[in-house]
Amino acid sequence: MKKQLFLAIAILLSCNLLAQENYKTITKEDSLKTYRGTTTYPVKEYRESPKSKKPKNIILMIGDGMGTAQIFAGLTANHGNLFLNNFKHVGFSETQSANHYITDSAAGGTALSSGYRTYNGAIGVDTDTIAQPTILEIAENEGKATGLVSTSAITHATPASFIAHQPSRNMYEAIAGDFLKTDIDVFIGGGYKHFTDRKDGKDLTANLKKKGYVVLQDMNEIEKVKSGKLAGLTAFEHNPVASKRDNMLPRSTKTALNILSQNKEGFFIMIEGSQIDWGGHQNNTNYVAEEMLDFDRSIGKALDFAVNNGETLIVVTADHETGGMAITNGDMETGKVEGSFIEGDHSGVMVPVFAFGPGADQFSGIMKNEEIGKKLISLIKDKETKKHVASVDLSK
Ligand code: MG
Ligand code: ZN
Repeated sequence: MKKQLFLAIAILLSCNLLAQENYKTITKEDSLKTYRGTTTYPVKEYRESPKSKKPKNIILMIGDGMGTAQIFAGLTANHGNLFLNNFKHVGFSETQSANHYITDSAAGGTALSSGYRTYNGAIGVDTDTIAQPTILEIAENEGKATGLVSTSAITHATPASFIAHQPSRNMYEAIAGDFLKTDIDVFIGGGYKHFTDRKDGKDLTANLKKKGYVVLQDMNEIEKVKSGKLAGLTAFEHNPVASKRDNMLPRSTKTALNILSQNKEGFFIMIEGSQIDWGGHQNNTNYVAEEMLDFDRSIGKALDFAVNNGETLIVVTADHETGGMAITNGDMETGKVEGSFIEGDHSGVMVPVFAFGPGADQFSGIMKNEEIGKKLISLIKDKETKKHVASVDLSK
């Protein structure tokens, strides 16, 4: 009897954990191994004309699991052109973590957010589980506005690495709690449940409101917000796939940039195309291509802003590649893409880094992921003082 009870509890616990990861099931359907989408979008040409040497604003865009094959799937799907083609400064990132040749998104995100390589699963902490200041916190300390946008839950590993400090990525409720320890101005993503349906019984949306946030779940309402503090929780857990979320990512990108740009001191934002990774885990070419196009259209929104502004650096990269994807066939005229994958998990290859705007020339050549984090942090800081980093209060 005791044994059965234990087993039942173990199953319940594992289901709860796995529920977060059910995007990892490999698809068996042949129809999903080929992308046959017919809708394409026009890509504008943007010319870099920086008004300054150092960026006042930084837009970091992370395509989770986005290697060159994923990008080329998108490029073929859109008949040979992407917004990404406007980026003239290109480099590569070595994605390895402190304890594994193959990184996960938590260690990958933390390297980019803090400039430290850490162990797989770590959120904003180093190999000794000591909290390290993230670029978002450092930017806040510099008087800049800050934001996070994601198509997954906003508490999921990638966005979490920029705002939370927890020993494990699975501590979703603690990660949600960490949002309240910062003064982040705008965040839009899924994860409503980690703020409201919690083991401690707290409703963190009430705390957010007390801090002055408008808390919204409907994208049409979120889009109407033009100033102030915004918490947009667009899904109970993760947002649905691109075809079912009505341009949530490009619309959120535009909304967030509009709000953040009102701060005279500038801003930092991280925008994640989370589900390129999930298409890779599922070995689903169709999923990869659709998410890639959605992410690229969000890059277009960032370019619209940056070109107009002239003091904004955009860096587009990935935390790792997913699936060991290869493009086995395609057609630039029709947009058809055939992909193949060697596994259902992350791979160890370098991922590309694209940069546009003031400071972009620093992101060429082969870099370790943590170097990219360090470069971004040094660019967001006004003065080169170590004091600034040390004064970020992580004990709050
Ligand atoms: Mg992610
Ligand atoms: Zn993954």
